[in-house]
Amino acid sequence: MRNLLFCFCLIILGAASAQTYRIAGPAAPLPHEATAMQELRDYLGRRINGDLIIGGQKNIVFQVGDTELAKANNLLSTQLPEEQWHIKSFGNQVLLNGGGTRGALYAVYHFLEDFCDIHWWSEFEDYVPTPSALELPALNKSGKPAFLYRDIYRTNYPADKVQFAVRVRLNRSGDVPIPAAYGGSFNYGPPYHCHTFDRYVPTAEYLDSNPEFFSLVGGQRVGGQTKGQLCLTNEALKPIFLNSLLEYIRQGEEKAKAEGVPAPRIYDVSQNDNRKYCECDKCMAFVEKHEHSGLYLTFINWLAGEVAKTHPQIYISTLAYHYSEPPPKGGIRAASNVVVKLTDTLTNQAASILEEENKVFKEFVEQWKNYADHLFIWDYAITFTRGLTGFPFASEFYYGDLYRHYRANNVSGVFWEHERPHMADMYELKIFLETKLFEDPDQDVNALINLFMDRYYGAAGPHILAYRQLVDDARKRNNGVVRWFPNIGSFQFLADEDVAAAQAILDKAEAAVRNDALLFSRVRRARNGLDRLTTRRQGAELCYRAKDGTIKDIKSILDSRSAAQRLQESWPAWVERYAAAGKGAMDAVNAELARSTTPTLPPGSVPEAFRGRSFYDFNAGFFENHSTKAISFIADPESPCGHAFRTSVKESHYYNLPFAIGFYDQGARKTLISKTFEKPPQKQGYNWYELGRVTIPRDGYVYTSRAWTTKLQTGLPQLIGNTYDIWVSAKLSGPQFYPGTEEPEYIWIDRILLVEP
Ligand SMILES: [Zn+2]
Repeated sequence: MRNLLFCFCLIILGAASAQTYRIAGPAAPLPHEATAMQELRDYLGRRINGDLIIGGQKNIVFQVGDTELAKANNLLSTQLPEEQWHIKSFGNQVLLNGGGTRGALYAVYHFLEDFCDIHWWSEFEDYVPTPSALELPALNKSGKPAFLYRDIYRTNYPADKVQFAVRVRLNRSGDVPIPAAYGGSFNYGPPYHCHTFDRYVPTAEYLDSNPEFFSLVGGQRVGGQTKGQLCLTNEALKPIFLNSLLEYIRQGEEKAKAEGVPAPRIYDVSQNDNRKYCECDKCMAFVEKHEHSGLYLTFINWLAGEVAKTHPQIYISTLAYHYSEPPPKGGIRAASNVVVKLTDTLTNQAASILEEENKVFKEFVEQWKNYADHLFIWDYAITFTRGLTGFPFASEFYYGDLYRHYRANNVSGVFWEHERPHMADMYELKIFLETKLFEDPDQDVNALINLFMDRYYGAAGPHILAYRQLVDDARKRNNGVVRWFPNIGSFQFLADEDVAAAQAILDKAEAAVRNDALLFSRVRRARNGLDRLTTRRQGAELCYRAKDGTIKDIKSILDSRSAAQRLQESWPAWVERYAAAGKGAMDAVNAELARSTTPTLPPGSVPEAFRGRSFYDFNAGFFENHSTKAISFIADPESPCGHAFRTSVKESHYYNLPFAIGFYDQGARKTLISKTFEKPPQKQGYNWYELGRVTIPRDGYVYTSRAWTTKLQTGLPQLIGNTYDIWVSAKLSGPQFYPGTEEPEYIWIDRILLVEP
């Protein structure tokens, strides 16, 4: 034991004596300075093996934070603009420091990234070159992020919480606060950073006593996060709202003090997350003259003016969302301490903001700069539609256009929604670009992409790049449109030939790194979205039954079996890594995996009622699940398909009788047809429910139950414009449906037919 300990000590000494550099800091480092020193120590330890020579000097001493060297050169954190960082050689001394509480950290990270070729891809993955000696010229580099506010909302945060965010110089990380050890956040004060009306004047507290505070919608006063807004022309509302806001400011300052982080400088006052607005005469007359945004700003400007009397340093932020996206009319503009956060709910994410189809949002950005001194953007890198999140679209080539357009129009901050990392398309690449361009939007995006491809994929890099270029070329050729809520038809810009060609390229990518488990797993992750699209695509193609009962032989060029195999092999590990905290995420992925390998052709005979007719036959492998809590995809031997979507009735009163089915046209935003059934037919088990005849629109779906949570998307090219009789096969089980039975109460949907008339 003694000998072992002795050896261990020798190794430590050996390693230490081999170092040709030293890391120094202030006599009593602040928490963020201690972190900066530790990060430098850890990464140089992994990077340097041999001499570190800088500007011809050996025995380098890194001076991190507010050291004597910083003081002597007027480079103290208190003397520099917040977040500005400096890397500077003084003989064998290298100063690493910056303004405010994050500047020193940024200096360290820039030194590691810009001079040592070290990169961070995610919470789990970084890149450090093989350890070697390193010789650098004398250093003199400084910078400051181009955007003041840099925030990516990611969800499913893994172990390190926010360390990664700070390493890539975000200054806010969604809902997870950055602690003092990492310099704190550009943080919103309480109650929250968005959709806050109901938190200041809660419906639960005021609707009964003061219904006039709330929005008049369809003749009724309603409020709350999902149902309504406030009546902003009601003068009596103002003092109540202001008191609530001032109380939150007090709480915010108290909490920051206790945590040792800077007090919040910004508080949000914005509309609830729905599309309703107050229809009272006074509000409507105001909107007529000044637009919705004019009404909101008038109210918020008043609040901001009152807050400024006691808190001149505080900003009030608000959203321009849905109906309030168009800027105000009639002389209204945001007060100097108001921040407008314009949401991007309109653009085709797969295209550049400079392309014609994105003109509306592009012009909103241009116009808003004339109505607000402080403009932020709420942008979407995610596609929200369940089951389609992560299908490929090559937005990465257009990030440069976007950031430069923002900066040119006085945008000083961006909040990205980029959640569901366990299934997002090219997540690490897109995050890399989102963060790099925040600091300097003039960087060459293609050079950044090339760097990423090389360091992240190694020998597979050129193939992955070719795949992404193919996706982008197909989008241009076929006018692909991918908005924040796409439908399955949105991805038809990738024709089967394109998907097959992309798969062939990715075969080469796999072959190039077959002997490197890490790089191979990354290639599989890059392939994930395309594999999911492949399995989904072929499932739709092969379910057509001709009049004589035979299955139409559509020769698909897609190999969905191999795609499903790859998903089974490689996807769960990535989901586990990213979504360990969210069991629901793994359940949803397992259901999709099960569906991707479910035979798409329901075995068994054609139902009697449909003999002699032609129809599309969709089994549960094609359905969407909009409630992972209530609904599971499970095996059911009673179904001729073998599987069903099973809904637990107890999860919502909407699953009680009557049972409903319908068809919703998403483009026209209206229900084309619906039917309710007071009770199921006498025969227990699966029954056919007739919905009726629908001409399929570009963007629509069949829904089942009154909660609409099991859906079949119909936006497929072979269906659009054609007319079908729609039938739903459902089994309702349990005493509510069949009194006297003792089974648990479930709704099972196993099959939906689109029958040619
Ligand atoms: Zn009103």
